[in-house]
This record gives sequence, structure tokens and C-alpha cells, in this order.
Amino acid sequence: MPADTTPPPAPAPLRVPVADSHTHLDMQSGTVEEALAKAASVGVTTVVQVGCDVAGSRWAAETAAAHTAVHAAVALHPNEAPRIVHGDPDGWSRQGARAAGGEAALDEALAEIDRLAALPHVKGVGETGLDHFRTGPEGMAAQERSFRAHIEIAKRHGKALVIHDREAHDDVLRVLKEEGAPERTVFHCYSGDAAMAEVCAEHGYFMSFAGNVTFKNAGHLREALAVAPLELVLVETDAPFLTPAPYRGRPNAPYLIPVTLRAMAEVKGLDEDAMAAAVSANTARAFDY
Ligand SMILES: [Zn+2]
Ligand SMILES: [Zn+2]
Repeated sequence: MPADTTPPPAPAPLRVPVADSHTHLDMQSGTVEEALAKAASVGVTTVVQVGCDVAGSRWAAETAAAHTAVHAAVALHPNEAPRIVHGDPDGWSRQGARAAGGEAALDEALAEIDRLAALPHVKGVGETGLDHFRTGPEGMAAQERSFRAHIEIAKRHGKALVIHDREAHDDVLRVLKEEGAPERTVFHCYSGDAAMAEVCAEHGYFMSFAGNVTFKNAGHLREALAVAPLELVLVETDAPFLTPAPYRGRPNAPYLIPVTLRAMAEVKGLDEDAMAAAVSANTARAFDY
């Protein structure tokens, strides 16, 4: 059977407006205006648009400057840094296939992220971090060097650090400790267990939950959410990825935040208005807008 690519129906609107703390509008179909209007119609009135490479980060900054509902985060994705250094024959990134640029090319890209991070509409540096799932051993040094550079950029500009941590929990926590985490640090698409949530809580790291918290096999995420202090919890789509149940596999977009937020309220034993109010305040605090 071919995959169902029709957009899921719009959920009932939230009564208390919230933010999608992490989305990729540039990877979704339709215009930015359409996505924002559809999201606002169900109470998702703010989005954080996240860049994954130089071109995407420039676009995020421009889009945030043009729309009051959009804030930007800028970075080289953890899988982007090794491609810049070692080359990318498959052309995964928006710049397409490219030859190995070495360390100098990474420095050049980081300098542009640094420049963008200074802009007023840019509220976060990320997504950065470590991805042991997609990047093999040959790319790890470049990935970690890029992560450390992003931490430094976030601290110098006083912006939130947005972390992508895929199968790299211990190493991400280690690098944060070695470098000293910025005042505001967000684990996007939180993927750790309850024990890690306690470590994050100790350090005051925000934990942003995505649609996968609704998946049947994601008991560890619900356990983590259950122990995470309410004041550190955010919600995100990471759209177009990670569409919440029961729409798994269909295209995700910010207007589906209420589906995930309601599942989170259930885990926390809160009514949806209280959950939305907490998440809304937390997101504004995390990104300082
Ligand atoms: Zn990510
Ligand atoms: Zn992302």
C-alpha cells in the first residue's frame, strides 16, 4: 500500500495558545503564511524555525524578521558538519553534492552562523549536538568540534542552545559539562529516559517533547516526561518529521501540536489548559522572547 501523504485533519483548537518550539517550515509543503495561519487557527501562535545548514539558517533568520509569529534558531546540524569537512557525494543538504572542504570550510560556515546568531530575530543557536545514528566514526571529530563551537557562539551572544541528541546522550552531556552549558539549553526531540530527565532537571535543561511521545513503543519518553519538572517542559513538532499518533507516517506541521500537547497533559495528569499555559511560558523563557 502506498504511504498516506494527505495532511491529517486539524485538531480541535487549544484555548490557551502555545508555541511549536522546533519546526522546519522550509521542508514542509505550502507557504509560510499558510502554515502560520493553519497553526494559529488551532492556537499554535508562535513557531521556532530551525536552520540546519548555512542556507537554511539564513532563511530562518529572514523568515523570523518577516513574521512576528516566527523566531529563528541557526546552526549547522550535527550531520552537516562532517559533510562540510569530508564531502557529501549524496547531496543531502540543500547546497547539494559537494567536495570535501576540510577544516577551513567548517570554520567559514561557523563564522556565518556566528554572524547570524547576533541578529535580533535569532533566538537560538541550534540544532547542534551529536548524532551517533547517522554520522559514522569518521565524522565524529568534525561533529564534536562543531558542537563545541556552537556552544561558544550561543554563550557569547546570550542565545538559547538547541541540542540535537541522537543516540549520543552521554557524550552530549559530557561536552556540555566540559564547555559549560549556556544559561538556556533545550534538548529538542527529547529522547532520553527518566534517569536522564533527572540529570537534565538538575542542570536546568529544558526538555522539548515531539510527536514520538505519543508512539506506542515510547514508554521511556512518557516516563521521562512524567518525572521532568513541569517548568522545563516544551512541545515541538520537528515537522515534517515525527507526526504524532494516530497520524504516524503522514506529513507533520505545526498545526498538529495540540495532538501532542493533549497526550502530554494526560501523562502529567493536568488539564490541557494548564499544560498549554506551562508550555507557553516555558518556551518564552527558554528562547527569551
Ligand atoms: Zn534534530
Ligand atoms: Zn529538527
